[in-house]
Amino acid sequence: MIHISNLEKVYDNVPGRIPAIQQINLDIERGEIFGIIGHSGAGKSTLLRCVNMLERPTSGTITIDGEDMIALDSRQLQVKRRKIGMIFQHFNLLSSATVADNIAFPLKLAGMSKAAIRSRIEELLELVGLTDHARKYPNQLSGGQKQRVGIARALANHPDILLCDEATSALDPQTTSSILSLLLDINKKLGITILLITHEMQVIRAICDRVAVMEGGHVVETGKVLDVFLKP
Ligand code: ADP
Ligand code: ADP
Repeated sequence: MIHISNLEKVYDNVPGRIPAIQQINLDIERGEIFGIIGHSGAGKSTLLRCVNMLERPTSGTITIDGEDMIALDSRQLQVKRRKIGMIFQHFNLLSSATVADNIAFPLKLAGMSKAAIRSRIEELLELVGLTDHARKYPNQLSGGQKQRVGIARALANHPDILLCDEATSALDPQTTSSILSLLLDINKKLGITILLITHEMQVIRAICDRVAVMEGGHVVETGKVLDVFLKP
């Protein structure tokens, strides 16, 4: 589903033009939960952000369902991005907007009618377990609840893919487990392909089917989680 070939990203402002990522080759299959693990600075975030073109790769290719992401113009990219949800370590909610309005945001951008938005918000709140919190503001919510809002917003336009950028790194272990269960549930129930990055082995072990290990801008190993992490 996601095909990444010989991908490289060099940030313009980096002295010596050392690539943040290079020689990245990955195939992520429809319906799987694929984890990318590595220490800080390994290139995980750069790679993830290249998948939805928040960063433009310097060379190489990314295709999603056969479509060349790098070739899309900004209008085409806008449409394609609706099918690629993303959640973040620090949730990135609008603090001046209610839970319902945060979730409504991508629906409004997609041009959905008011009535349709209201009913979609209800569905999403139920999916993430926040039915009674629609009118609260982010600062009235716990970290786990904020991430549930982030997930609802990311799923609003029925994406095929969910990108997770250290989505549980700001949460305590118990809340992490509940968010990981929700992600697993979403993957199983809705068939959404999940690509996540993390520095926590526990996240990989808990929900990932396959994993890539990154070091110094390279993928150094790829395989099924049990094969990669139980090898002698
Ligand atoms: P990770 O997500 O694994 O922590 P990153 O992708 O954030 O890794 O970073 C990989 C490398 O690219 C690091 O050396 C980092 O300093 C550098 N980098 C990341 N973002 C930028 C940027 N916007 N400009 C310049 N260098 C960056
Ligand atoms: P407006 O365009 O003024 O936001 P709405 O009638 O859509 O008009 O929303 C009024 C308020 O109700 C908003 O603050 C919104 O956050 C909230 N709201 C919208 N949908 C729901 C919902 N499904 N459940 C609870 N509150 C909602």
